Amino acid sequence: MDLIYHKNDLVTVTIEDIGTDGEGIGKVDGFTLFVKDAVVGDVVEARITKAKKQYAYARLEKVLTSSPFRTQPKCPHHRQCGGCQIQALDYEKQLEYKQQKVRNNLVRIGGFSTAEIDRVTEPIVGMEEPYRYRNKAQYPVGTDREGHVVTGFYAGRTHTIIPSTECYLGAEENREILEILVAHMEKYHIPAYDEETGKGQVRHILIRKGFTTGEIMVCVVINGGCEKKGKGSSKKDAETSEYAGCRQNVDGTEYIPYQAELLEKLSNVEGMTSVSVSINTEKTNVIMGKEIHTIWGSPVIHDVIHVRNMLKEGYPCAGQELTFAISPLSFYQVNPVQTEKLYSLALEYANLTGREVLWDLYCGIGTISLFLASGARQVCGVEIIPQAIEDARANARRNGITNAVFYTGKAEEVLPAFYEGKLASEFCQEQENCEEWQQDLCHPDVIVVDPPRKGCDRACLDTMLRMQPDRIVYVSCDSATLARDLRILCDGGYELERVRAVDQFGHTVHVETVCLLSKLNVKHPVKVERNLDELAILNDMEK
Ligand code: SAH
Repeated sequence: MDLIYHKNDLVTVTIEDIGTDGEGIGKVDGFTLFVKDAVVGDVVEARITKAKKQYAYARLEKVLTSSPFRTQPKCPHHRQCGGCQIQALDYEKQLEYKQQKVRNNLVRIGGFSTAEIDRVTEPIVGMEEPYRYRNKAQYPVGTDREGHVVTGFYAGRTHTIIPSTECYLGAEENREILEILVAHMEKYHIPAYDEETGKGQVRHILIRKGFTTGEIMVCVVINGGCEKKGKGSSKKDAETSEYAGCRQNVDGTEYIPYQAELLEKLSNVEGMTSVSVSINTEKTNVIMGKEIHTIWGSPVIHDVIHVRNMLKEGYPCAGQELTFAISPLSFYQVNPVQTEKLYSLALEYANLTGREVLWDLYCGIGTISLFLASGARQVCGVEIIPQAIEDARANARRNGITNAVFYTGKAEEVLPAFYEGKLASEFCQEQENCEEWQQDLCHPDVIVVDPPRKGCDRACLDTMLRMQPDRIVYVSCDSATLARDLRILCDGGYELERVRAVDQFGHTVHVETVCLLSKLNVKHPVKVERNLDELAILNDMEK
C-alpha cells in the first residue's frame, strides 16, 4: 500500500473543521489530517504521528497563521491535560461547535432530517463565565521519578500524572487542600498508590464544594488499608507494624497515618465540612470504592439550587429553591450555575400544571425529581446507587416534599417490573390509594430520563413506550447515544418537538442536551431512514 504521507512527515495545512474530540481537521490534496490542539481557521505546521491511506493523525508543531477564533488559554497544561480539549478556541465558537455536534449526531446517528432538527432546535445556552465553574474535582495521586508524591491530572488518554495543583475549571480552594495532603504524605512517607503493582496507599483525592453554601467535602480514596499484615494485636504491635499499605490504631479508626494531624490542618480550610475516606482495593479504573468512612465533620455537604432563570412567572415551580445533601458517592451536577438553567428547561419541557404523575429515571439524589414534585401531583425517582437514594429521601424530607418516592435499582429493571405489577407492594407501602396510584404510574403523564453517557437501556425505552406518557423529557450528556435513543422513541410513536443544548462543560468537547418528545396520535408512525452503519458502530462501542 502506497501512503501519500508517512510518520514524521512535516506538513502545512489549513484547519477547516473541528472533530468530535476537539481536534482540528484539514485537508492536503484530498488527504485528511487530524491535528490535536490546532484551532479551526489556523494555518499550521504539523508532524504526522500515524498515517493511513486516506487520513493521518498529526501533532501541532507551529501555528503559521493564527485563527481569529484562537484565544489565550488560562491553563499552562491545557495541551497535555486530558481534561480540556478546546481551551484555545474562542468560547463563542465553542458553543457553535457544540450546537453543531448535537445537530450532526441527531442527523447522522438518529436519522432525522436536517430540516426537522433545525425546526425543533433552540439556541444553545452558554455560560457567562466559562472558568472556575466545576464544583467537583478528582485528582489522581502518584509518585514522580525522584520519588516525590505528586497529584495533578492524567495526560490525555493515558494514566501519566501531570503534576499540578491548579485547575482553572475548579474551585480555588482545591489547591490548598491538595498541598496539605501532599505535604502530609511526604512528611510521613505515606506511599501513593501504584497502578502497576497495586501497592501503596493513597489513590485519589475527591474535592467537592457547594457553591451556594460554601461547604467543602474532601474524600481521600485509599487502597484498603486497614487489614493488618503482621501477627499480634497488642498496642505496641499495632503502633509499629505495617499494614496493607497503611498503619492503623488499635481501635481501628485510623485510615491515614497521623490522621489527627492531617484533619487538624484540613479543618482549618475555610468551608471544610466533611472529610472521609473511601476504600478501594480493586485494580481498576473506577475511582471510588463503595466503602466510605467519615473521619471528620459531617458525612454530607449541602448545596442550594434555584430555578429562576428560564421559567415563566406563574409556572408551578418557578422561583423555587431547594437544598440538597450530597454524599461522596452520589452524583451531583458539576456546574451549579448551568444546572439551574438545565433544570429550568427540563421543567419547562415537562409542562406541569400541578396534576401530573411522573417518573424521573436516573434521578441521582433526587434533584430534578423534587423540583418536578413541587409542581406536580406525584413523582417516582429511580436510581442505581443506594446512597444517592438515601440522599434523595433525606432531601425530600428536608424540603418538606411528600409527593415523591424513590426506588433503588436499574431503570431498565425497575420500570418493566413495575409495569408488570411485580413491584407494586414495595412501592405501595406508604400510599393510601394503592391501586389507583399504581395505575397512574403505569400510565404517567411525563417520563423524565437523565442517563449516564451510555444512554438508556433498550428494556427501559421499550417500557417507556408501553407506558405511553404524553411527554418524554430526555436530558442527555452524550448526543450520540441520545440520537440512538430518540430514534427508538420516535419509531415507537413519539415526535421530537424541542431540542436545546446547554453548555455544562466549557473548554471540553462535552455538551448536555434537553429534548422534548410528544406522543403522536397516529397508530402507525412513519419510519424515517437511518444510517445503520453509524448505529452499528455505536452499538459496538458499548460492548
Ligand atoms: N438526574 C440526576 C442524575 C443524573 S446522572 C441529576 O441531575 O443530578 C445519571 C445518574 O444515573 C447517576 O446518578 C447514576 O448513578 C445513575 N445510573 C446509572 N446507571 C443507571 C441505571 N441503569 N439505572 C438507574 N440509574 C442509573
